[in-house]
Amino acid sequence: MKVLITGGAGFIGSHLADACIARGDEVFVIDDLSTGSLKNVEQLADHPHFHCTIDSVRNEPVLEALVDNCDVIFHLAAAVGVKLIVESPVRTIETNVRGTEVVLAAAERKRKRVLIASTSEVYGLSEQVPFREDGNLVMGATTKGRWSYACSKAIDEFLALAYHREKGLPAIIVRLFNTVGPRQIGRYGMVVPTLVSQALAGEPLTVYGNGRQTRCFGYVADVVEALLRLIDHPDTPGQVFNIGSTEEVSITQLAERILALTGSGSRIIYVPYSEAYEEGFEDMPRRVPDTSKAARVIGFRPRTSLDDILRAVIEFRSSGEGAEAGLAASSQARSRAS
Ligand code: UDP
Repeated sequence: MKVLITGGAGFIGSHLADACIARGDEVFVIDDLSTGSLKNVEQLADHPHFHCTIDSVRNEPVLEALVDNCDVIFHLAAAVGVKLIVESPVRTIETNVRGTEVVLAAAERKRKRVLIASTSEVYGLSEQVPFREDGNLVMGATTKGRWSYACSKAIDEFLALAYHREKGLPAIIVRLFNTVGPRQIGRYGMVVPTLVSQALAGEPLTVYGNGRQTRCFGYVADVVEALLRLIDHPDTPGQVFNIGSTEEVSITQLAERILALTGSGSRIIYVPYSEAYEEGFEDMPRRVPDTSKAARVIGFRPRTSLDDILRAVIEFRSSGEGAEAGLAASSQARSRAS
């Protein structure tokens, strides 16, 4: 198959590109390198089945030509990372809404199967934990920048489902919960690479708020396997799927596990949200997916435990390339905390 991956030089996209190449696909990546990096795909650069275009998905002629040439599209290109979103809301909304509009319109012209990456952020302030795909989405006020990301992704979902219903486009929506693994950088706010880098550097671990908020961290390889199953399955178009781990951990527990696994002597410091992000920032107290639908339809079973995930991230961060990205992220988190 010929596979197009938008955002293919990003953290998840590059792992997906690796998996597609490994199974014999021809892979076309488009990425504007805003948060992605060519380093993420350098292992594929000389592969005869790998092609990379550095451009925005909003460049319609370029995107249309790529879509026409491919059998399936994974649309992962988006503005991501809570810190980036809070600091650049215009970019977030324009990239996420316009980018998906262009991808869906191009896919529709030749009825190409397309998977749209959405996010667990769309559940917003919902307290119906664990979150089910058919549950309510509860948005905060429009004056809080964070919710622009959730709303932009919710619009993407509405549009993809509308294309499916009205025009028969085989579009699949996946709500990704916190996904972690090698190549993820902390620069845009992600907690695991940030805390691991701090622990390895012997610096204080910056836990935001009271640290009792919980998340479930899924391993990127498990997530990539689910994405491939979702796009291959005949019954998934027109549906929404949660994908992520169900192993719930508080951020303080996460920090403690990172300290134990790295053997670091660092301490944990608590940073108010107003200092970490912006005044009035709202966090979700719990974020846990109900993944029973994905289990039933595609046999999704996350295989990697949190400790194994953390070991993989620690190993990556301790290696030359990961350490370089990690130190930059860690110093940024420190300057936010000071
Ligand atoms: N967080 C933290 N310290 C950091 C970065 C993030 O305590 O250096 C917290 C953040 O406030 C949130 C959780 O860790 O409660 C997960 O943050 P992340 O940005 O990784 O993902 P989110 O679930 O917020 O999208």
